[in-house]
Amino acid sequence: MIDWIADYYETVEKYPVLSQVTPGEIIDQLPLNAPLESESMDQIMADVNSIILPGITHWQSPNFFAYFPANSSGPSVLGDLLSSGLGVQGMLWATSPACTELETRVLDWLADMLQLPEKFKSTSTGGSVIQDTASSAALSALLAAREKKTNYLTNQTGCLGNLVAYISEQTHSSVEKAIKIAGIGSNNLRLIGVDEKLAMRTDLLELAIKQDLANGLIPFFVCATVGTTSTNAIDPLTEIGNICQQYQLWMHIDDAMSGTAAICPEYRFILNGVELADSFSFNPHKWMFTNFDCNCFFVADRSVLIKTLSILPEYLKNQATESGAVFDYRDWHIQLGRRFRSLKLWFVIRHYGVNGLRFHISEHIRLAQQFAGWIDSSDDFNLMAPAPLNLVCFAHKKGNDFNRQLLDTINKEGKMFFTHTMINGQYILRMCIGQTHTQIEHVRQAWETIQKTAIEIILKST
Ligand code: PLP
Repeated sequence: MIDWIADYYETVEKYPVLSQVTPGEIIDQLPLNAPLESESMDQIMADVNSIILPGITHWQSPNFFAYFPANSSGPSVLGDLLSSGLGVQGMLWATSPACTELETRVLDWLADMLQLPEKFKSTSTGGSVIQDTASSAALSALLAAREKKTNYLTNQTGCLGNLVAYISEQTHSSVEKAIKIAGIGSNNLRLIGVDEKLAMRTDLLELAIKQDLANGLIPFFVCATVGTTSTNAIDPLTEIGNICQQYQLWMHIDDAMSGTAAICPEYRFILNGVELADSFSFNPHKWMFTNFDCNCFFVADRSVLIKTLSILPEYLKNQATESGAVFDYRDWHIQLGRRFRSLKLWFVIRHYGVNGLRFHISEHIRLAQQFAGWIDSSDDFNLMAPAPLNLVCFAHKKGNDFNRQLLDTINKEGKMFFTHTMINGQYILRMCIGQTHTQIEHVRQAWETIQKTAIEIILKST
C-alpha cells in the first residue's frame, strides 16, 4: 500500500485533476450486496484502480487550485497509518496516556509557532485540542460562550432564546450551522456588513450590539475570520476584540486555512489582536501538510470549555480523571471517542522543522503573489479582491457568463482545477496555491491555460 501511495504521488499529474465521472457511474459498478466469502487484496486493489480512481478528484495534484487546499505529505501519511495501526481510542487520558500527552505538547509547540499568547497554552489557563474540523471547533466555541453567558444554566434548562451572535456577511457557513445546532436560532444571528476589502465593519458590529441591547436581547458571541473562504479577507481582530471586551462577548477567531501563514514571522501580523480572543481555530489539514482531518482549537480558559462539555458517567470513571491531574480530551469537544491525530502533526513538524514549514508556506505565498502580478498586468483580466496571502481572486473582463464558461471548460479538460465565488453579483475565479508539490511551472502552466482557453472561447464565438 505504501508503494501504491508513493507511485500515486509520483504519477498524480497524469490524471484529470477534477474527476470526470457522471453521477451514478461509480455506484453502478459496485455489487448490490456485500460478498459472503473473503476476497483477495489483489482483487480489491484491482477494483480500486479500475472503479475508484476514476471517481477521485486529485486533491494532492500540484495542479489543484480549487477551494482551499487539503494538502498532505509523506510524514503525515505515515503518522496517520501508525495511528490506524495502533488503533487507539483516546477518549480519556487513561485509555492511552501518550495519545493525550503528545497532543498537549504538540499543540503547545503550535501555540509557540503561531506566537499565540500564553493563555492559549496548557501550561497556563487555556490549552488546545485536535478536532475533526473548523465546523466542530466553531460549535464548541459557541456552546462554551453560551454557557459562560448564561452561567451554565442553558445546559440545564434549555435555550433561553434571547442570545444574539454576530458574524460578517463573509463568515463561513459552518458558523451559521453551529448557531442552528446550538439552539441559538438563525433569527438571532446578525450578519454584519463588510468594507471594500470584504472585512467585517466594526462600526456596524457595535451598532448592531447596541441595538440588540436596547431591545433587551443578550449579545454573547462574535466570530472573526482571518482568511474568509471567498476571498481571504482578514477581519480587524483588535477592533473586534475591543468591542467584545467592552460588551463582554466571546470572541472566536476562525483562521481555518490562513492560520498556517502565521507560522512565518513575516505573515504573523495576520494574528495581531488574537490576544483579545477567547478561542481560535485553524486547520493544519488545509495548508500545513497534514492530511485530513486535523483542526486545532485553542481556548484561553479551558475551565469554561470543560464545564460546558464534561459528562462523567459511571462507566468512564477512573482514578486518573478523579485525581484532576490529567486532561481528558473527550471533555473538550463534541464527540466521546477520538483518534490519535497528534501523531501525524508530530511527524510533520519534526520532519519539516519549523524552518522547513516556513520555507514551503512562504513559497506558496510567493507563487500566488507572482500569479496576482500576472493578472494585474494583463489587459484581459482584473484582480477582484486584495490577495494578502495564497488566494488570488480574479475575473476576465468579459463578464459573468464568460467567466463561468472559462472555468467549466478548463475544469472539464482536467489539466487543472480551480473554483469560483460570487461577490456583489460578480462571478469571480479563485486560484488558491497551497498544494504540497505545486511549483512555479504548475502556476505558469495554469496561467497559460487560462489565457489560451479564454482566447479559444472568444474565437469560437466570433
Ligand atoms: N472556516 C473557513 C474560513 C473555511 O474556509 C472553511 C472551509 O473551507 C471552514 C471554516 C470549514 O472547514 P471544516 O471543513 O474544517 O469544517
